Amino acid sequence: MKDPRKYMRANILSLKPYATARDEFDGELDICLDANENPFNNTINRYPDPHHKALKRTMANLKNCNAENIFIGNGSDESIDNVYRVFCNPGHDHVISIAPSYGMYEVCADLNDIALTKIQLEDDFSLDTDKLLNACQPNTKVIFLCSPNNPTGNDLPYEQILDIVKRFEGIVVVDEAYIDFSAQKSLIYEVNQHQNLIVLQTLSKAYGMANLRIGFAYACAEIVETMNRVKHPYNISGIAQHKALEMLNQLESHHIQTLINEREHLRNALSVMKDVIRIYPSSANFLLIEVTDAKAYYQQFINKGIIVRDRSSIKGCENCLRITVGTPQENLKVIQVFEQGLE
Ligand SMILES: *Cc1c(COP(=O)(O)O)cnc(C)c1O
Repeated sequence: MKDPRKYMRANILSLKPYATARDEFDGELDICLDANENPFNNTINRYPDPHHKALKRTMANLKNCNAENIFIGNGSDESIDNVYRVFCNPGHDHVISIAPSYGMYEVCADLNDIALTKIQLEDDFSLDTDKLLNACQPNTKVIFLCSPNNPTGNDLPYEQILDIVKRFEGIVVVDEAYIDFSAQKSLIYEVNQHQNLIVLQTLSKAYGMANLRIGFAYACAEIVETMNRVKHPYNISGIAQHKALEMLNQLESHHIQTLINEREHLRNALSVMKDVIRIYPSSANFLLIEVTDAKAYYQQFINKGIIVRDRSSIKGCENCLRITVGTPQENLKVIQVFEQGLE
């Protein structure tokens, strides 16, 4: 068993977190004169729960896991930055990500002054494990994987990810932002067997709560405890915690199946268009589509009041647009743009 503390920064291991008076007292309180809040109740005059207890309990129930294995950040983006702060010494350490993939791994590497090596996926967007592991250096602390991957849409096979987790002497982060659209199972149930594994999920995509900025990192208790010490104390507003709880208690899971059906409907409709060269397989809520002229089509979409993502400047995604699956009406408009062709 790998001890995750072995990979943590020395100053983080010894970091004493900011403590609130309410951390030191665990009971029912009538009068709170400890935090310099305004005492007149307007429903938002009190600081929110810094430990997100109710939200963690609800997620633990939903996911059938332990609350002590859940870290909650202000979107996955906070968890990504937090991982750098916990494990990577600025100006010294090194991380690896796959490419093409989500842009925040690199932004946070730059922010934290950490060198990043990108391992290009193969032509079919599969990952060569040996190529990845051969890029590891003695100071490589973290490998970022993303499955289903953004913007390519494919899963990395479960057993391949687990093999990397077992072979790598460091932390493996698996970003599962799109896992609810995939037929493949999540790796969150591996975090207690593999203590160097961190799995990211979010309320921003399948759950339909991007506005709330709530992301989860599932990991062994030692990692979660450390990430909690590093985060800003009140990182999730009370309004967001409250709204998330309310919505999680009345989940509309049928929306996910609708989006998957729409994705396949969109694929079928677009695959016969003359300017569509190929549509990559997708386990997410978007399609990566190679067209004859991505720049021209991007502009054509803009002219029709539709914004899609032009990924054509990214290596491996030449002439590709990434189109999110919308409502049936929105998808029909996308189909009509391709039917019309370039003006
Ligand atoms: C959209 C997305 C996220 C979500 O980030 P949040 O900060 O939780 O909204 C994370 N990872 C990937 C790969 C994404 O595409």
